[in-house]
Amino acid sequence: MEFSEFADLPVIDCHAHFKGGVKNIEELVSEGETLIEVIKRGRLRQMYITGEYAGLYLKVKYPGLFYAGGGVPAPYVDGIGRNPVKDWDRYIDELIEVGFDGIGELVSKPAERSRRIPLNSQYYEGFWDKCESAGYAVLCHVADPEEFWDERLIPEWAREKGWGYYHGDFPSKEELYEEMYQILDEHPHLKIVLCHFYFISADLEKAEGFLNQYKNANLDLALGVELMYNISRRRDDWRSFFIKHQDRILFGTDIGVSQTLQEHLDRVWLLRNFLESDEEFYTPETADPLLTRYREPYVGLNLPRHVLEKIYAGNFMRLWGEKPRNVDLERAIAKCEERGEKFIAEALRGLTG
Ligand SMILES: [Zn+2]
Repeated sequence: MEFSEFADLPVIDCHAHFKGGVKNIEELVSEGETLIEVIKRGRLRQMYITGEYAGLYLKVKYPGLFYAGGGVPAPYVDGIGRNPVKDWDRYIDELIEVGFDGIGELVSKPAERSRRIPLNSQYYEGFWDKCESAGYAVLCHVADPEEFWDERLIPEWAREKGWGYYHGDFPSKEELYEEMYQILDEHPHLKIVLCHFYFISADLEKAEGFLNQYKNANLDLALGVELMYNISRRRDDWRSFFIKHQDRILFGTDIGVSQTLQEHLDRVWLLRNFLESDEEFYTPETADPLLTRYREPYVGLNLPRHVLEKIYAGNFMRLWGEKPRNVDLERAIAKCEERGEKFIAEALRGLTG
């Protein structure tokens, strides 16, 4: 299908990034303009952008089009660094007050044990408690596709990025899941979306068991194109799964892992064509290299309109709110100064008055 043939429904991308982060004011402005083009040409209504205070800049510059995720220290020894958060209550309250809409993407990719801080460790206890009690949604990446633990099966592009977990003291995929099970057990009201379909698309029965056991867990579709590939191999069973769990699945692209406007749009197109059409199709040639080129086709799910409505926007709004929060511009500027992000402070100042 063409973009113009896709359903006329509000679509919110729950998982987008600035490509490679932004390092100066010119990049901030031009990346913002690129994302606006993606919204227009990709027929999106809004985006939830990870990028901390740069995300707040987009919220102020383009009112109503962006939700922004606040950051928390990454779960690695070098991520938590010299200034670990001690008072999570205050930390999260500040993020809410300055105008962030939720947390994340909080990324817990596999790392060697000596480097990792498990998400269920004592350090994060107050974080999960606070997000649950404040009803503050978290976008969270746990683990990776199973083939990354297997030297024979890992795709070349992943190996090149150093995402192979077979030489060294890495936790198993199941161990990473155990950490999340504990968090979910202890926080039954936590609003959480697990990225990339929680990397369980290779095992439908496991996915079914997981969603049945943890009623507050949600899954995003951010590519990881292996999820579309896996789902296509048992297309009819998965189609029933999507209809049954229509309240738990969210549209997301991982734009920003892609680099160019065309690559961003290819991600939007791939997912929309997958959800809406009944076509057999392949990764477009123009798509970014992280989207594996498979020999067998993806097979579209052709989901009913009322299911699309939820996956595209309804579920996101239930978790993150009907509209983006307002930004407290003065406080945001002060925060950027304090964090040494002078160019973002300057860009925000340019938007006052
Ligand atoms: Zn991401």
